[in-house]
Amino acid sequence: MKMRYFLLPVIIISLMLFILDSEDTAPVNKSIASDSLDISYPFFGNDVIDEYIMNYLEDYWEKEHVFIDYDYYNNNSSYYMTFYSYIFDGNMLSNNIDSFLIDVDNSTIVKTEDNDFAYDPITNNKSYKEDKLVALTFDDGPNYNTNRILNILNKYNVKATFFVLGTKIKGNEYILQKMFDSGMEIGNHTFNHLLLTKYSEDKIKEEIESTSNLIYNVIGKKPMLLRPSYGSFNNKIKKVTTMPIIIWNIDTLDWKYHNSKRISNRIFSKIKDGDIVLMHDIYSATANALDIIIPRLLNDGYKLVTVSELFYYKEISLESGKVYGYAR
Ligand code: ZN
Repeated sequence: MKMRYFLLPVIIISLMLFILDSEDTAPVNKSIASDSLDISYPFFGNDVIDEYIMNYLEDYWEKEHVFIDYDYYNNNSSYYMTFYSYIFDGNMLSNNIDSFLIDVDNSTIVKTEDNDFAYDPITNNKSYKEDKLVALTFDDGPNYNTNRILNILNKYNVKATFFVLGTKIKGNEYILQKMFDSGMEIGNHTFNHLLLTKYSEDKIKEEIESTSNLIYNVIGKKPMLLRPSYGSFNNKIKKVTTMPIIIWNIDTLDWKYHNSKRISNRIFSKIKDGDIVLMHDIYSATANALDIIIPRLLNDGYKLVTVSELFYYKEISLESGKVYGYAR
């Protein structure tokens, strides 16, 4: 009995806090339904803001197969609100994300972010087979320059593959994590960058496995692809590895010339559907070249994907110990 009396005030206070907390979310939902769209959205009771949101949402009403929802949080009278709209049209699913800063006291609403994405839904992956696909690959990192490379890839919303060295992981764990979080593929480029063909099976195994373990320790996932240092392989390496061996068919020679124009021109003069391009994320000229290469390839209709995606979309299965230089 005593225990219950003791708990009662705690329960009452918790209940009061819960009610106060839920009262804090000021906008009331208002529902609007058209033939194709049915949305319940926040209504602020402020003519300027409510009209703005209504006009924004009206653009979607005519479209078919639309889904919109939102996320918001507030800080005093300021609301940070993001609408997520998904429009399915034929083969493509587009996703528009628009963010707004709303100040109820001053009756202002400002668009702070506008992101549009278009991608095939999972069920339509097969349509990629007919697309022009290219895999950009970066070796020998990570180092201080890799972060810049990642920012450029993220800016264009494209994916690439990084074959990392075991010796470069320590101290650069955050870059590896950023690669992973950005949807990049991380492959194994061995530990010490030795000419592996000269070494014993045991040493080869150690060079590969120690690197895979280090990658696992950072991102919680073992790499699925091996690129032996110098791209050189022999039967010993093929036998020892449990991964497919990924080389390349376009070498930008970025390590040799450090010339962004020359790097981009080498790609433009050779590029074809299914190619794997070799670059190095450790050089500034390579980062500068990406700002030339990516917009032009996208403009020419190429999709930039990771190595695993390239083979998946081309419906070529990767086998361990086999060597691949392109996907055709
Ligand atoms: Zn290398």
